[in-house]
Amino acid sequence: MTPKILTRREIEDRESALLAPYGMKSGDSRGRVYPEEEHPYRSAYQRDKDRIIYSTAFRRLEYKTQVFVNHEGDYYRTRLTHTLEVAQISRTIAQALKLNEELVEAIALAHDLGHTPFGHSGEDALEELMKDHGGFDHNSHGLRVVDLLEERYPSFPGLNLTAEVRRGIIRHSSPFDLKRMGTDNIQGANLLEIQVVNMADEIAYDNHDLDDGLKSGLLNEDDMSGCPLWSDTAKKLDFSCPGISKQIQRSQMVRNLINIQVSDVIQNSLERIDSFGIRSVNDLEKLNEPVIVFSPEMDEKRSPMRDVLMNKLYKHYRVVRMSNKATRFLKSLFNVYLDDTRQLPPQAQEEIPKRGKYRVVCDYMAGMTDRYALDQYKKFFEPYERV
Ligand code: MG
Repeated sequence: MTPKILTRREIEDRESALLAPYGMKSGDSRGRVYPEEEHPYRSAYQRDKDRIIYSTAFRRLEYKTQVFVNHEGDYYRTRLTHTLEVAQISRTIAQALKLNEELVEAIALAHDLGHTPFGHSGEDALEELMKDHGGFDHNSHGLRVVDLLEERYPSFPGLNLTAEVRRGIIRHSSPFDLKRMGTDNIQGANLLEIQVVNMADEIAYDNHDLDDGLKSGLLNEDDMSGCPLWSDTAKKLDFSCPGISKQIQRSQMVRNLINIQVSDVIQNSLERIDSFGIRSVNDLEKLNEPVIVFSPEMDEKRSPMRDVLMNKLYKHYRVVRMSNKATRFLKSLFNVYLDDTRQLPPQAQEEIPKRGKYRVVCDYMAGMTDRYALDQYKKFFEPYERV
């Protein structure tokens, strides 16, 4: 028999056979804004995933802050490694629940594309500066990146992703936001795949921030001792044999914590799918509450851990100092461009008649990596720096 390739049609048939009835099938996608011919051997979501990976915004995630600023050390998470962890956890949950793994992966890889340099401090700065000029939030901006700002195709702006992935990117945005962005046409379908990525995002950052926090020394194990999730896990693991380093102990703790939380989400979500009587993707439209969530017991156990992260890590004086500094200098940089837009690169200047100078400066700055923003700041404010 002559060997043959696996065609897109066969991939779609395989999805229909293997996915749960409430899993989103790529063949049922609402499609793309600019119609394109389907690919012979890649599903629609696989294609979206590839487009996201090849985008400029995706590559820049490597140099954007998660919690620890890039130059604080090479071993902490960045937006890129955070994104990869979210994709991995999303796939695990989706696979166990027989949901579309390719779709969750595409959404997960794109979920932070709208983030500014310097994490939430950058976002706070842009939010304030754009308050009277259309606002700023990273989810809406993420959609703007894939719909408009990426330039790769001759016949349309952006990446022309499927409706489901675009819906996944804006996720929590309110109906008001959607209308403002002119995207209220991608309503509805509170897909389980989108909910999976939201959950995986939460699991990923809580646990890797804990890991990075402990590694950096801003958190220590005594801080964690009052957290039942931590102490229960520690009890189960045997660190008594000599030679187990602190690093291995920490890795084992975090690994087990992730596993316990992921397993809880899977089990609890399955029970909810059953109790809500969800039999199809359409059944999800009528639901007003999320399906993919932790059990109430797990929520309760997680809460002290999240309090420690909030009070000891995110509010640590060194983290606060860095984030205030970032907000301060990003605001100054924004105003420098705004005062005289001839200082913007020519491609950005060309957009001013269409988008207005506030939005153009905002788009330009949101796209910056941490170090690019720092370099620009130096150029504008250090008299001895070459411009
Ligand atoms: Mg995230």
